[in-house]
Amino acid sequence: MYDVWAEHVAGCPAVGGAVRNLPELPPLPKLLPEVRLCKHRLVRRQIAVTPAGLKRYAVVCELCGRRLDVAER
Ligand SMILES: [Zn+2]
Repeated sequence: MYDVWAEHVAGCPAVGGAVRNLPELPPLPKLLPEVRLCKHRLVRRQIAVTPAGLKRYAVVCELCGRRLDVAER
């Protein structure tokens, strides 16, 4: 079963599909090399609009999906 899954992951053509659709990662100890391997490509994702009409954005990396910082502007 694991072999089948691993094979699917290796050959999965779906970009952003189920295989890569990982939940947002919680804060992790500094063990994952992914952070360094990823050249973060920052995108601002609107997450909310305040009652005053201000848009709030979360700055996330569209490559790895990590939320890097929160900018309000
Ligand atoms: Zn990244």
